[in-house]
Amino acid sequence: PSVPPIDFRALLNDEQFAAVTAEPGPLLVLAGAGSGKTRTLTYRVAYLLSQGVRPGEILLLTFTNKAAKEMLHRVHDLTGIEPGRFWGGTFHSLGNRALRMYGEAIGLPKNFTILDADESETLLKQAVTALDATFFKEKTNPRPGPLFSVLSLARNTQLSLADTVARNFPQYAEIAHRFPAFAAAYTSKKRDDKVVDYDDLLELWLKLLTDAPDVAAYFNNRFRHVLVDEYQDTNTIQAQLVDKLAGHHRVMAVGDDAQCIYSWRGADFENIMSFPERHTGTVIHRIETNYRSTPEILAFANGVLNCQPKGRHFDKELRAARKHGTKPAVIQAMDDREQAAFVLKRISALVEEEGVSPNEIAILYRSHFLALEMQLALTRAGMPYTITSGVKFFERQHVRDLIAVINFVYNPANTSAWNRIAILLPKVGEKGASKIYSAALDHAKLMQQNFIDALATDDVLSKVPKDAKADWPNFCASLRQVYEAMNEDTPADAVSVAIEGWYGDYMKGEYADYTDRLEELKGLVGFAGQFTQMTDFLAQIMLLNGETSEREIQPDTECIKLTTIHQAKGLEYDVVFLIGAAEGQFPGYRTIESGDFEEERRLFYVAVTRAKNELYISYPRVASRPGPGGMMLSPSRFLQELPSDLYDELRIKRSYGW
Ligand code: ATP
Ligand code: MG
Repeated sequence: PSVPPIDFRALLNDEQFAAVTAEPGPLLVLAGAGSGKTRTLTYRVAYLLSQGVRPGEILLLTFTNKAAKEMLHRVHDLTGIEPGRFWGGTFHSLGNRALRMYGEAIGLPKNFTILDADESETLLKQAVTALDATFFKEKTNPRPGPLFSVLSLARNTQLSLADTVARNFPQYAEIAHRFPAFAAAYTSKKRDDKVVDYDDLLELWLKLLTDAPDVAAYFNNRFRHVLVDEYQDTNTIQAQLVDKLAGHHRVMAVGDDAQCIYSWRGADFENIMSFPERHTGTVIHRIETNYRSTPEILAFANGVLNCQPKGRHFDKELRAARKHGTKPAVIQAMDDREQAAFVLKRISALVEEEGVSPNEIAILYRSHFLALEMQLALTRAGMPYTITSGVKFFERQHVRDLIAVINFVYNPANTSAWNRIAILLPKVGEKGASKIYSAALDHAKLMQQNFIDALATDDVLSKVPKDAKADWPNFCASLRQVYEAMNEDTPADAVSVAIEGWYGDYMKGEYADYTDRLEELKGLVGFAGQFTQMTDFLAQIMLLNGETSEREIQPDTECIKLTTIHQAKGLEYDVVFLIGAAEGQFPGYRTIESGDFEEERRLFYVAVTRAKNELYISYPRVASRPGPGGMMLSPSRFLQELPSDLYDELRIKRSYGW
C-alpha cells in the first residue's frame, strides 16, 4: 500500500525524530513520563510503513488492548492503513492468537478454552484434592486462591517454586516441597480438559517459540519489527518472549524505569536495565523534553525522582516544553469528608466556571478504600463519574460478603444475605444453606427465640454438614457479637466486630492478599463512623451501589474519572487530584513497616506525571479510624521530603471555601 507523505520533522522533536527514523536494529527509548514515548512508538509504526514495511510484518505489544487500538487508529489517520491488519495488543491477547494458529505444534488443541481466574482456582482445587483429599481441610494449609498465587508468580518470574516461596511466601515454607506435585497435577488436569489459564497464554507461547523450531522460524520471518510500550513493567516471561520474537534484533522497546510499578506481579525493572546486554548492538535513545505538563508540575515530578536513592535508575531530568502554569497545590483537609468536599467544590468551579470537561479530570488514589468518601460525595452531588479500575469498592467480593453479614444480622429475614454468607462455610451449598435456615426458623418460632440465637442450637447444628461443624460455633458466636454491637454500640463498632470475628478468619484462609483486603474493610469502618443509625448506614451503601453502576451505563455522559494510580498508567488528564496523600495511606502502613519505599515513590511519580495543567494533592489530618499511628495523620513522606518551594499550600476555610 502506498502511504501518503508524512512530515515527521514537523511532528516530532529531534530526539523523537532520531528514534522514529533509526536504522532497524535493537532500539531502546528511555525517557521520563510525558516525553512522547508512546507517540514515538506510534510514529515509528507509521514511519516503517512509509518505508515499505507491510502491516503484517509489525508486532505491537502494549499494556492494554485499548492502548494498542488507540495507537493503531492514529497510525490509520496518518497512513490510511486499517488497524485490523496489524498484530497489536497485550501479551496475553497476542499469545492467544499465536496459540490458536500454531498451538497444535506443541500438542494444544485448536479449540482450547481459556479459564478465568475463578475457574482456574477451582480447577487447581480439584487437581490438588485428587492427589490429597484432605489438603484443603488442614487449617494451616493455603486455600486454593493463595496456592494459585504462588504458582502464578513462579510462572511469571520463571523462578522455581522453592525460590518463589522463599522470596515471597515464607509462610508456606514447610509445605512448599509439595507444590511441584500440585503444579504438575494442575497442568495435566488442564491438558485433559483442553483448557488454558491466563499464565498459559504467555508460558505456552514461549514454549511454542522454544520447542517448535518451524513455528519460531515462521514468526521470526514474519515479524520484521517488534515494538513494545511500557517495557519497564514486563515480567521475566514477557521479556523472554520479546527476546525470542526479536529474532532479527529489529526490536524497539520504550519505557521509563522510574515508572516500574508492577513488581508485585513479577515485573522487574532489571529487564529494562539489562536490555542492552541481551540485545547486542542496542542503540539507546533518550528524550528529555516533556510535552505533557506545565513546568511547575514537571519541577515537582523531578523533585520526586531526586528523592530516589542514586545509581539504581537511569538518570534523567526532564525539560518542559509548555508555558508556565500554576504550582501544584497541597491541601490539608480536616478529614475524609472535608477532603471530598474540597475536591467536589474545586471540580464544580473547573467545570462550570473554567469550562474544563469532566472527562479531563481524574481523581487518583493509592488504594480503593481511600476513595469511599469521594464516591459518596460525587453521588450525593449527582456528578457523573466512572471508576475505570476493575471492580468498584462495593462490588468487591469481600466487601459484599461483609456487608451481607451485617445485613443478615440486621434483618435475619434477608435470605439472600443469608445465602451469601452461609455458602462460605465448607461444603455448604445453596441447598444446604436453605436447609439450615429452615431449621433455625422452625426452632426460633417454636421456642419464641431470636433467630441468631436459634442458629446456635443443636437442632440446627444437626443440619450443618460435617465439614462445616468445626467452624459453626465461631460463625454463630460472631453473628451474636455483631448483633450485640448493633444494639448497644455504633454502626462502626458493629462493622469492626464483624471484621474481627468469623469473617476475618474466613478471609485470612481464602485470600492471599488478605492484609490488603483487611485494610479496605477497615476503610469501611471509617465510613460507617459518620452514621449513628445502622439503617442509615446500610441504606447509604445500597444507594451508592445502585447509583454508581447506573451511571456507568450511559456511555455519552461526560464523566470524572476515579482510578487507582496503577490503572492510570500511560494516561493523561488536564486536572489531577491525588487524594489520600498521608502517611499510612500513601505510603500505606505495610510499606512503612517494610521500609521499602522505592516502588511506592515510583508510584507517586506516576501519579503526579498524569497531570497536564493542574495538580492538587490532598490528605486528611484526622483518620477515619485509628491506625498504628493513632488518629492523627501526617502528610505523606513523599511530600515532606520535597523542597517546599515546589508547591503551594492551600488552606481550606471552615465553610469548605478556600
Ligand atoms: P508516559 O510515560 O506517561 O507513558 P509518554 O512518554 O508515553 O508518557 P506520550 O503519552 O506519548 O508520553 O506523550 C505525552 C503528551 O505529549 C501527549 O499528549 C503527546 O501528544 C504530547 N507530545 C509528545 N511529543 C510531542 C511533540 N513532539 N509535539 C507535541 N506534542 C507532543
Ligand atoms: Mg506512554
